[in-house]
Amino acid sequence: MKFRYVTALLVLFLFPVQAWTLTLEEEGKYGREVYLQVATSAKLHSDPYVCIQLAIIKQRLEAAADLPLPIKLSVIDSPTLDAFATVGGYVFITTGILEQADTEEEVAGVLGHEFSHVGRRHVAKTLEKEKFINWGMVGALLLGMLIPSPAGKAAVMTGGVGAGQTMSLKYSREAEAEADRFGVMTCEKAGYNGLGTADFLKKLAAVGLDKMVPQYLLTHPYSEDRVTTIRQLAKPMKTRVDVSFFPFVVARVRILGAPVGAQNEDIWFKKHQKDPKDPVSAYGAALVHSLKGDTDGAVALAKSMNSPYAPLFMGEFFVAGRRFNEAIAVLGAQGHPVARYFLAKAYEGQGDLAAAGHVLAELAPYGDTFPEVYQRMGMVLGREGDEAGGYEYLGRYYMETGRYRAAESNLEKAVSKYGINSPRGEEALKLLDQVKPPKDNKKGKQS
Ligand SMILES: [Zn+2]
Repeated sequence: MKFRYVTALLVLFLFPVQAWTLTLEEEGKYGREVYLQVATSAKLHSDPYVCIQLAIIKQRLEAAADLPLPIKLSVIDSPTLDAFATVGGYVFITTGILEQADTEEEVAGVLGHEFSHVGRRHVAKTLEKEKFINWGMVGALLLGMLIPSPAGKAAVMTGGVGAGQTMSLKYSREAEAEADRFGVMTCEKAGYNGLGTADFLKKLAAVGLDKMVPQYLLTHPYSEDRVTTIRQLAKPMKTRVDVSFFPFVVARVRILGAPVGAQNEDIWFKKHQKDPKDPVSAYGAALVHSLKGDTDGAVALAKSMNSPYAPLFMGEFFVAGRRFNEAIAVLGAQGHPVARYFLAKAYEGQGDLAAAGHVLAELAPYGDTFPEVYQRMGMVLGREGDEAGGYEYLGRYYMETGRYRAAESNLEKAVSKYGINSPRGEEALKLLDQVKPPKDNKKGKQS
């Protein structure tokens, strides 16, 4: 597609400033290119608690915001504190942010702000002003910010192009103010009180005083003015959606993210001893028991908890201990999607693939943030003899984790098994279009 490249250059030559605008389709294409790089180099987080809860927050915000394209939210396993939106609706959040969060409103605030950058097309508009965009470089830069690796840092430091692109990945003050404003509105419409971003910024600024400045504050500079404005914008209202599961998610991120087992043991057993009635401390202590292989200890603690989630936790620990029948007995009547996930695992462990497949199908709406659902579905369907379904869901899994070549080969098989004229075949064909490398890939990047 040399012709298109030449045309683009000519247009640039004739109109050197703001020579072109990104269509939503192009945004999607470039977004995927950046995503490919991030998803295949950074570690995507795959804990069911974290991913499903973030998918729930995402869905609430998405329903409240008027967005030109769907959001693809990915959780990056990294202690770096950052959240970032690129083009095409791709939004990233690190586990580092979750570890620092005290309330679901804070995370909703951070995400509502990022979704507003997407909705107002801030990144796309900024990049439209650049004469030359190397999308690979954008991905590398983003990666350098999300994961604290020497390779990532090196990419950020790379020469002239790098420096120019770093600038373009920062938003203007106006864009930040706009994202704050729309973010507060989105959160409130979604049922959260709108003070989350203000609370979170204040806390990060306090952390930044004695440690290194968190990455998030480099891309979203802190100022008293920002916090004051957000507080003025926010209505005096209470959160109307159920946020009761969130503290357990944070406890889990903190426990699973800590490097040393003994350290966790010390912290969570002490917390639980100090306040035996606090369900979050009890869950933390129980999870440490479970991680040490002490299923009985973990289940006993969960059973003693005064929490509607006690059966979910017991089920999780039974699954970890490979006691699938007991897990099914406590999880069968539970409706929370995380409980459903463990129920599916229990059925799978027990060998009842049909039952596992049914429960997993309920969880498909969480698949873009929690791709493991697709992977398990692909394997369960394949083992059950539904080859087409198996290939389709494995294709979806590879697609959501940025492994487009594997996605392509699985989706091609799905199309041929379904038959090209069947509705499912057509659906798979549409997905296939999204993962096929664009024909003008090499040249198209440089315009
Ligand atoms: Zn921002």
